[in-house]
Amino acid sequence: ASKNDGRGQHRFYDQALSATVKGRAQLKARLLEALERGQFLLHYQPRVDTVSGALLSMEALLRWQQPEAGMIAPNEFIPLAESSGLILPIGERVIDMACAQLARWRAAALPLVPVSINVSVKQFASGRVLRQFEEAMRRHNVPASLLEIEVTESVMMGDHDEIAAELAAIRARGIKLHVDDFGTGYSSLSQLQRLRMDVLKVDRAFTAELGGPGQGRVFFQAIVSMAHALGMAVVAEGVETEAQLAILRELGCDEVQGYLISKPLPPDAMAGRFLTHRTLDALHA
Ligand code: C2E
Ligand code: MG
Ligand code: MG
Ligand code: MG
Repeated sequence: ASKNDGRGQHRFYDQALSATVKGRAQLKARLLEALERGQFLLHYQPRVDTVSGALLSMEALLRWQQPEAGMIAPNEFIPLAESSGLILPIGERVIDMACAQLARWRAAALPLVPVSINVSVKQFASGRVLRQFEEAMRRHNVPASLLEIEVTESVMMGDHDEIAAELAAIRARGIKLHVDDFGTGYSSLSQLQRLRMDVLKVDRAFTAELGGPGQGRVFFQAIVSMAHALGMAVVAEGVETEAQLAILRELGCDEVQGYLISKPLPPDAMAGRFLTHRTLDALHA
């Protein structure tokens, strides 16, 4: 199979990766090498206003450009990066790359929107997240208002007092906090209240239920009223159809992200398609 045959791309990557990289130790060595050789890059996916279609933010999504195996998706290597501790230098690189990209777009005089960065619980456990953001913001002269952080519910679980304090400090610094994949974890209303998160990103599994025979609509409706009562905005992830978008508008879901609007794009394509004109045809708004 060739990389460009257009069929079963993810499968091809899986096979190519496992053929190239035998075992955990070797994958870890390859990830270190990838850091040294600059093989990590970010793609960007727009997040837009449900009603107007205005571009609000873009999520930075990590990719590994592996010379032999091609472009590798994060699910293929983030788990090992997390269990091996490599997520710390990789995560720091992600923060730096996102700020560097914002600085490049600003230098090109493009209108900017915030970039949303995924930060895992392992990174928070290191206690260095805010410092890494501060350093990258200073290095690239990027204001906090152009950065957002996405954390999964696991970050809010249990009695992680240090993590709670760091989240509060990040928010006080002006970086908005998003709960990613909401609905798949076990966070409670009291945790959401106590930790003061800004945005709930509802997992795409629930978006996929909209319009079907199940309870998807009821679930979303409950999330929207709860979030609004707590002063949070709601984002639907994984919006793929006009029918889902129509229901989300009806339910008052604030923002949407998904293939209907755009797949994650390399920076130049993102800039060309979204940073030059802010309202999207895809939404017919
Ligand atoms: P996530 O943060 O929940 O990101 C959303 C994922 O859903 C992305 O997959 C995105 O490409 C995909 N997606 C977006 N819209 C749609 C849609 O309409 N339909 C479908 N089927 N999928 C959609 P991706 O890029 O493969 O990332 C997977 C996960 O890897 C992310 O989930 C996040 O948890 C993690 N990740 C990505 N980049 C980073 C990073 O820089 N650092 C850390 N720690 N984790 C990252
Ligand atoms: Mg995310
Ligand atoms: Mg998500
Ligand atoms: Mg996810």
